[in-house]
Amino acid sequence: MASSTTGAGSFDRKHPTGLLKNENLVWDVLAASKEPLKAYEILDQLKEQGVRAPMTVYRALEGLETKGHIHKLDGLNAFVLCNHEGPHMVQTFLVCDRCSNVEEVEVRAVAADIEPAVRAAAFDMHTARLEIKGNCNHCAAV
Ligand SMILES: [Zn+2]
Ligand SMILES: [Zn+2]
Repeated sequence: MASSTTGAGSFDRKHPTGLLKNENLVWDVLAASKEPLKAYEILDQLKEQGVRAPMTVYRALEGLETKGHIHKLDGLNAFVLCNHEGPHMVQTFLVCDRCSNVEEVEVRAVAADIEPAVRAAAFDMHTARLEIKGNCNHCAAV
């Protein structure tokens, strides 16, 4: 896969198949958002569609994350759609300190360096998430 410079909001999203009803709803909310969303913000947007229980949203987020369609940003406690094909363990994000812009990028060197170290420790890795903080090109230019 080629290194990606497309940011959230600009890549061509294909609606994944095989999702549960609530996972579809949550995916649509995230796809329509230019920014990462917190669980309660997703819940807010789904109230009109009859989703009222936070657990419903949490379960859908968990399902989508397990299937590799979204990522959780721990630093922001928010969720974004994955812009890669299929699940991947090593995840790298550029997180702007000034605006809420988050861009998922593929840095092969990160994966290439992490995986042997994890294997050498016989560690069963689930996720390696790197949040690179700074200013996006829009904010840096201001
Ligand atoms: Zn991803
Ligand atoms: Zn910015």
